[in-house]
Amino acid sequence: MEPIKQRYSHQRETILNVVKSTLVHPTADWVYKETRKVIPNISLGTVYRNLNQLVESGRVLKLKDEAMVRYDGNIVRHDHFRCSACGKWYDIELLDQSIFKAFAEEHNFRIESINLELEGTCKNCLDA
Ligand SMILES: [Zn+2]
Ligand SMILES: [Zn+2]
Repeated sequence: MEPIKQRYSHQRETILNVVKSTLVHPTADWVYKETRKVIPNISLGTVYRNLNQLVESGRVLKLKDEAMVRYDGNIVRHDHFRCSACGKWYDIELLDQSIFKAFAEEHNFRIESINLELEGTCKNCLDA
């Protein structure tokens, strides 16, 4: 048998790979289903615990809306567009941040983090 510590980190790495393998910003349930394809006997509680640890160590982002918590394996700074019809989150890359710098300079504020979340209807839902 593998030492317990090694088994735990193997589970965590597998879960991290599952989250990083997708752009869907998955829920814990989704991560659980996908992780079970690799580790069939893993429990939902273990998946939750490992997801929380990955969030705490900054390797996964946690996103929240009114309905549910989602996870994001893309930790390079980016923003989101959330579809209010299907609930999917889409990444927005390279948004021009000069307007925020101008705002900070005007008011003598120091910006420490920027988290933008746009809400609307995605193309799939508009076409449906
Ligand atoms: Zn949609
Ligand atoms: Zn994202």
